[in-house]
Amino acid sequence: MGDPLPRNPAWKREELILALELYFNAPGAVGNNVHPDVITLSDTLNSLPIHPTVEGRATTFRNPNGVGLKLANFRAIDPKAAGAGMSSASKLDKMVFEEFSDDLSRLRKTAKSIRELSVEVPRRAAEEALDIDEQDGQNEGGIIERVHRTRERNSKLIKQKKQAVLKRTGTLLCEVCDFDFHAVYGDIGKEFAECHHKKPVSEMTKGEKTRLDDLAIVCSNCHRMIHRYRPWKAISELRALILERKTS
Ligand SMILES: [Zn+2]
Ligand SMILES: [Zn+2]
Repeated sequence: MGDPLPRNPAWKREELILALELYFNAPGAVGNNVHPDVITLSDTLNSLPIHPTVEGRATTFRNPNGVGLKLANFRAIDPKAAGAGMSSASKLDKMVFEEFSDDLSRLRKTAKSIRELSVEVPRRAAEEALDIDEQDGQNEGGIIERVHRTRERNSKLIKQKKQAVLKRTGTLLCEVCDFDFHAVYGDIGKEFAECHHKKPVSEMTKGEKTRLDDLAIVCSNCHRMIHRYRPWKAISELRALILERKTS
């Protein structure tokens, strides 16, 4: 048993989300490599910019057979499925199943975001990895994460946000830890700060505009910590955590 296609890269979180959506939508697709939805998902997975490169990709990459088997893995770990049993499910298969199996509307919403946002991710960005630490934590730089981070780099919005905050407070303090680049680094830190989108792109409706209130001024360290694990930490949550550690 085990993965019959050992030369293909392991399934990533967003691929599993799409497969899990199909698992719940079409029970007849499990282990069925001629099911039309299995074939469609196979095509989708082959076109998504999730894995860095198509060069040298085996012709078996996410083929209908592999997709059908992945659905069978889900059935094997589904406590509600009859005849659950042989399980070659991975740790990540189980994590994704547990995360979404009780919240199908969130599963469908997230799957929809992955499909819609995939067109916003330029192919090359997958290779550049957008300075996201792929090996760290759960932060594997998927489509949603990459589009989110790209939008956080929208210089026009960031400029407006920083100007608004500077005008109101005279400084650009990190909303999590109060770090002030200008105070610490002097002139080279003047007017420097990162911006965090408090609304994940997967929770925004298509075409929804970001308002300045959706952005938070953060320092680079806090920004990394916010995105390190899912679900992303809220500003207030991380702030409380730091304060608690300081006072204990
Ligand atoms: Zn900070
Ligand atoms: Zn952010």
